[in-house]
Amino acid sequence: MSAEFIFPPPPFPSVAIAQDARRFPVRRIFCIALNYAAHAREMGKDPAKGGEAPVFFSKPADAVVESGATIPYPTLTHDLHHEIELVAALGKGGADIPAERALDCVFGYAAGIDLTRRDLQTAARGAGRPWDMSKGFDHSAPIGAISPVAAIGHPTRGRIALSVNGVLRQAGDLGDLIWSVPEIIAALSRNVAIAPGDLIFTGTPSGVGPLLPGDVVDGEVEHVGSVAVSIGK
Ligand code: MN
Repeated sequence: MSAEFIFPPPPFPSVAIAQDARRFPVRRIFCIALNYAAHAREMGKDPAKGGEAPVFFSKPADAVVESGATIPYPTLTHDLHHEIELVAALGKGGADIPAERALDCVFGYAAGIDLTRRDLQTAARGAGRPWDMSKGFDHSAPIGAISPVAAIGHPTRGRIALSVNGVLRQAGDLGDLIWSVPEIIAALSRNVAIAPGDLIFTGTPSGVGPLLPGDVVDGEVEHVGSVAVSIGK
C-alpha cells in the first residue's frame, strides 16, 4: 500500500527531452563555480586549476524553469545576473566514480542559465557567510530540452553564448572548461552519491551581467541546444 500524505505531494520537477514526449525527472541540481578562466578573472579570482578540487553548490530541484517561460524579477536583488552553462543530465549514478568511467553516467546535455542574485552573493562572500540564497532561489535554473548522448555524443568543443534583447553578452567555447565533465562527475561523486535525475551546471564563460525587467534572454550551446527566458515587467 502506498504511503498516505497529510497533503498532496508537490509536482515532481522535470525537464523536456529533445525529440521525445517523455520527461527527465529532476532529483538534484548541482553547480560548479568558476570553471572558465576568463569568468574567474572577471570575478576577481585566480583561474589556476592547481591541485584543488572543483567547488560545488546546489539549487533546489524545483528551481528548474522550462525554456520559453517568463519569470518574475526575483525579490531582494537589484543585480540579477545571467550565466549561460552546459548542463549534464545524469541517467546513472554512484559514488566515487573514476573519471574514466564518469561519462557512462551522462544521459544527455542541455543549455541552462544559472541565474544569480549577484549583489547578495557578493555581500555574503564579503561577510564570510553562505551564499545559498544568491543561487538557490525560485525560478533560478532555466533549462532547455535535453539532447540525449545517443543523438549528440559528448560535446567537448563548441560555442556557448548568450544574448540579451538580441545583443551578444557572453561567448565562449566548451573547450575552455577548466574542469571537464568527467572530472566534475568524478569529484562530485566523491562528495556525495549521485543518481539518475541529477543535473550538473558546469560553469559559465565570461561576460556575465545584469538583467532587467522586460529583458529577453537567449542562450545556446552548439551541438547541444538552446534556452530562452523572459524577465517579467
Ligand atoms: Mn554558474
